[in-house]
Amino acid sequence: MRSIRLSLVVYFTLLLTATLGTVVWFYYQDVTQSVHANEVSTRKLIETQYDDSCKKVRSDLDEHLLRRAQLFAGMARSNQKSFEALFILGQAATAPGPQAHLPAVIWAEHAASRYLQGRQYVLRPLDIRVESAEELMASVTGIEGEEYYQIFRENGSAADRSESMGEASFALDERLKKTEWPLYKEQFDDVELRPGLHVRRVTIKVALTRFRFQALPFRPPFGKPQPPAPDPRPKPPPPPRPRDSMVPVFYLQYAGDTEPRDQKLAELASKRDADLALLGRQSERELHDMHQRLIWLSMATFVAIIVGSLCLVQFGMKSLDRLTDAVSRVSERDFRLQFDDRKLPRELQPIVSRLQSALEMLKRAFAREKQAAADISHELRTPLAALMTTIDLALRKPRSSEEYRDLLEACRGSGQQMTQLVERMLALARLDSGVDQVRPREVDVEGLADQCASLVRPLAEARGVTLRVHHHGPAPLTTDPDKLREVLTNLLHNAIEYNKTDGSIDVEIDRVNGDLRVEVRDTGIGISPDARQHIFERFFRADPSRQSEGLHAGIGLAIVKGYVDLMGGAIEVDSVVGEGSTFRLHLPLHASSH
Ligand code: ADP
Repeated sequence: MRSIRLSLVVYFTLLLTATLGTVVWFYYQDVTQSVHANEVSTRKLIETQYDDSCKKVRSDLDEHLLRRAQLFAGMARSNQKSFEALFILGQAATAPGPQAHLPAVIWAEHAASRYLQGRQYVLRPLDIRVESAEELMASVTGIEGEEYYQIFRENGSAADRSESMGEASFALDERLKKTEWPLYKEQFDDVELRPGLHVRRVTIKVALTRFRFQALPFRPPFGKPQPPAPDPRPKPPPPPRPRDSMVPVFYLQYAGDTEPRDQKLAELASKRDADLALLGRQSERELHDMHQRLIWLSMATFVAIIVGSLCLVQFGMKSLDRLTDAVSRVSERDFRLQFDDRKLPRELQPIVSRLQSALEMLKRAFAREKQAAADISHELRTPLAALMTTIDLALRKPRSSEEYRDLLEACRGSGQQMTQLVERMLALARLDSGVDQVRPREVDVEGLADQCASLVRPLAEARGVTLRVHHHGPAPLTTDPDKLREVLTNLLHNAIEYNKTDGSIDVEIDRVNGDLRVEVRDTGIGISPDARQHIFERFFRADPSRQSEGLHAGIGLAIVKGYVDLMGGAIEVDSVVGEGSTFRLHLPLHASSH
């Protein structure tokens, strides 16, 4: 993204949106789980309530039927007073002793009756019934629906039944006839009395007498009972004798229409279904509401994030805006960065200080370029003026051929000076464009240094400067000899130019750490530490006011530096103001060709 502001807003928004999304997602999951858990527990509660209610409805009917059955059983038994009396009398007569012959008739009758009943033959069917049963049944309140009852004798024959049963009849479960079945233990079941009429029925086994006396075994009326001959065999343990086996019994069945109960159960089921459906809808609505709330909340937060990010970024970028303003006020006339440093954020401080130093360099480069233009014009003007003057002098009157020759020589000198300047400018331009290349060759640096020295020696002697080249044995090097010559000549020219009268120049060539070192030492004016940092910059002159002879536009050392870099070497300078300067060249033994 091109805009810092936009990218900050976008990244900020993305980060906060991701955070918000994660939080909302976890919250949504949490709430959804708790809503579901709540729904499940409420659903269980409804089911439990429904089961309890169903149980209660069922047990209400069962309890009612059992109570009615017990009531009817009591009433049916109360009609059996004579039988009861007979039974008690017989029991009482048996108890006193072995001469119980008086109730023999009674017992004979009882035994015969039981015997015959055992053979499914009814000698004298007992009349077991409930008096005024219909009125009693009609008076029942609380439980709706028709009710029915039926009484069975001990042998299973029907003794009495309610009018409500009409032609229909109940049957007695054969299992109940077994003597093991306990007295008054109820048995519930659902039966279809008539096609389409389903009833709930309770069956109880009822003792015909109120007293649960054990009927004693029959004893012969005379004589003592003979003890049985002892059986030598070990006796098996006697089977458990049912307590009620000798009590005369009857069975009573009482039933009620199940339709009202089933209706209630159906109502309960439909209420439960409605409650469950309502619960489902409530949970769904709750989740839906929460969903909506979260969407609105997220949207509002998202908008707030964007607005907040914009405001924050705007606020944070204020310093950058001020810096932009300050930079835009910089012009070629005023290179100052007008900016209040106290309000500068720490992050911008390196940029601003770098900018300030770059502007300072730019300012100096501008000034140097201006100065250079003036210097070059000045440098060109002198030979041009000399050339024009010489030509004017030649044209003024006819001259001898010797005079013309001298004048033309002077013209050539001025032309050479201008050519030199233009060539230097060209060399710089070639260095800038990168077309200049190193053409390496085997060079004897000492020989080359001698050549350069002899080239500038006349000038040095003219200034009273002694020039010495110190030899330390041959110094072969593979490099571009033309460039190295240009470098040495420039350094020697400067050493002469900025030397004192009667000064000296020493050139040393030796090997250091595998490199070739060339030193040009002079006893000149020296270079100040400030100027030393800039002497290799183009158009720099330590003292522009200094008048000198020859070409001095601050180009020489810039070309030297460019060539040394091209040859893969390095150049440094040591200098003491007033005492002299030393330019030190380090050249690799094998220069690579560029
Ligand atoms: P110029 O052509 O003006 O001499 P140079 O690039 O050769 O330009 O040198 C740049 C400046 O460095 C000079 O103006 C001068 O001030 C300083 N300088 C160069 N060589 C020497 C030296 N040997 N002694 C003192 N100053 C020097």
